[in-house]
Amino acid sequence: MLFKVHSFGALPDSVQIKPATRLSLLPPYLFAELDRLKREVIKTGVDVISLGIGDPDLPTPQFIIDSLKTAAEKPPNHRYPDYEGLERFRQSACAWYLRRFGVKLDPVREVFALIGSKEGIANFATAVVDPGDVVLISDPGYPVYFSGCVFNGGEPYSMPLRRENGFTPDFGSIPAEVARRAKVMWLNYPNNPTAATVDRSFFEAAVAWCLKHNVILAHDVAYSEIAYDGYRAPSVLAVPGGMDCAIEFHSLSKTYSMTGWRVGFAVGNAELIKALSLVKTNMDSGVFQAVQEAAITAMDQGDEVIREYCAIYQRRRDLMVELLRDIGLSCETPRATFYVWAQVPKGYTSVSFTERVLKEAGVAITPGSGFGKGGEGFVRFSLTVGHERLNEVANRLKAMRF
Ligand SMILES: *Cc1c(COP(=O)(O)O)cnc(C)c1O
Repeated sequence: MLFKVHSFGALPDSVQIKPATRLSLLPPYLFAELDRLKREVIKTGVDVISLGIGDPDLPTPQFIIDSLKTAAEKPPNHRYPDYEGLERFRQSACAWYLRRFGVKLDPVREVFALIGSKEGIANFATAVVDPGDVVLISDPGYPVYFSGCVFNGGEPYSMPLRRENGFTPDFGSIPAEVARRAKVMWLNYPNNPTAATVDRSFFEAAVAWCLKHNVILAHDVAYSEIAYDGYRAPSVLAVPGGMDCAIEFHSLSKTYSMTGWRVGFAVGNAELIKALSLVKTNMDSGVFQAVQEAAITAMDQGDEVIREYCAIYQRRRDLMVELLRDIGLSCETPRATFYVWAQVPKGYTSVSFTERVLKEAGVAITPGSGFGKGGEGFVRFSLTVGHERLNEVANRLKAMRF
């Protein structure tokens, strides 16, 4: 067979690549300059200690790894998983939920496996946000609430988290016109980056507000189990009316030191779960079943290890809070998360303080403004390095004058 060769004349060297307009809606990457500065400091031979990232240094517990090893050997696990997750996975999630929060869920209609909660959070926007819908977003906050919103043509509305309100949004200050157009409200307690916690009464107010204004309540509970001093983070689904308006995004990442494994689950209102499942069946093909089996092991047998890990973080927290107060930085003692959120000293912005600490002490922290305008004036310290390193941080910071 002969192919006819067309002549196209002189061709350009490459196609003109114009990324989709939605990409231009993303905020500038604030950390680019800091990353550059960090590399520069490292180049001068400084042993930079990173308290910048939200990724546990504690390893995944061995019994969970063993479970993955066994599960990885089984050929049925090598095939495409079911979208919604193994029945046993969903049952374990329900059992865990009942034990932990006293909330009874239907494993068929009210639970869905996620490839990490970040995936679910991003895809949930596609499931519920139409162009022009307002999405209420805590500021500062996890950046995915914002990107999910703008990628789907939504209009983000910032709910500032102020220190005087315990870093919770003031629902009363949301204008009526915004409330009328609002489709979703994002909350996240225990909170990243502020480390704020709430009690059940806060969720009662949030649910009441959402029911009154016909708004979906999306709650990110990535840190529900990283808690101290006996604090038990509540579930919004345990509040009357919660199941009528809310969905919760759970993650095994922080709870069991499994950030790289990519597994979590969404629970809550059946219609919201169904909408999310429709997006996901068209976007991905589920969680590797061997990882699901390991996750089942974690949920069924992991209560003790959570206590052990929290005790470790708690000792680090105590050291960090004492240090920060020692050097004159004001912060609350967090009851949950592995972050400490501290106010920068007078005369600094979040970024200028972060830069000075990096340059003079070789300690990398995160400027609050990286999580939104509402984070300006604060910095976030992660408790994801061991005691020895934290003592070294203490020595270095104490040598500075602010
Ligand atoms: C870490 C984190 C997540 C995402 O966790 P996954 O690893 O995707 O499950 C979600 N929300 C917040 C606030 C986080 O800090």
